[in-house]
Amino acid sequence: MIILKLPEEVQHWALNTKRRGQRIAFVPTMGALHEGHLSLLREGRRLGDKLAMSIFVNPLQFGPAEDFEKYPRDEPGDLKKAQTCGVDVIFAPSAKDIYPGGFQTAVAVQQLSMPLCGAGRPGHFQGVATVVLKLFNIVQPDIALFGEKDYQQLKVIQKMVRDLNLPIQIKPMPIVREKDGLAMSSRNTHLSPEERKAALAIPTALQKAKGLATAGETDPKTILNAVVATLTESKKIAIDYVSLCDPETLEELKVLQRPALLAIACFVGKTRLIDNCLLK
Ligand code: AMP
Repeated sequence: MIILKLPEEVQHWALNTKRRGQRIAFVPTMGALHEGHLSLLREGRRLGDKLAMSIFVNPLQFGPAEDFEKYPRDEPGDLKKAQTCGVDVIFAPSAKDIYPGGFQTAVAVQQLSMPLCGAGRPGHFQGVATVVLKLFNIVQPDIALFGEKDYQQLKVIQKMVRDLNLPIQIKPMPIVREKDGLAMSSRNTHLSPEERKAALAIPTALQKAKGLATAGETDPKTILNAVVATLTESKKIAIDYVSLCDPETLEELKVLQRPALLAIACFVGKTRLIDNCLLK
């Protein structure tokens, strides 16, 4: 496994790899790796002749009042975990190598970036799309893997790839959960033991919604009310949004059509967590 810091070193590696006719699979991450990331790496290992991953906490996708400084970082741990998954190349650039002085270009996937997380985090998905396009141009993957945990991010990237004719296959990967149902997230390490317990209301609320939909409930309000009631049973939880929306356009649904995306974002203490499921 090699660790490269400079974009031009990775580009050089990518060009040589492709010249040999080998397929590059790529997993972009912000590090602090957990089983969710590792599931993407293992699948990437299976799909590509070479497996590349990036570790970059992208300042462009954090708002001024957000947790960029406090975002968990664990480079030594990440390197060990990456090695067990057969990663060939780790790209771990500095912010100034990605955004040198005078950087002024941005990629905006307009409508898909507006609802859900985009509403409370203006500029977030523009930061995501911009860095992912840069990473794609540096790593030159044939296939890139993204988790459905960040469902809106996945849709934004899929749209960018289609809209800009990027020759890259995007492979969505299912959400990996802890044994008790909490979706794995680097931010879970910020939760106190009490907050960790309270956070279980999120998967519980998703399950409740699935139960209602399976029982034939078609009124989004009834489902959303049940989700909100479950989440707000704990005083430690403050809801950012709960949305029942079209899984492709992310537009809010007035009647429950199938499949529908149920997406949740909430603060557990100071930690913002997101989760979602499809109601089929
Ligand atoms: P991050 O490091 O949080 O930017 O995540 C890097 C990639 O891992 C993204 O494609 C995420 O959607 C994916 N990911 C994060 N958590 C999970 C999870 N619990 N299950 C599946 N994929 C995940």
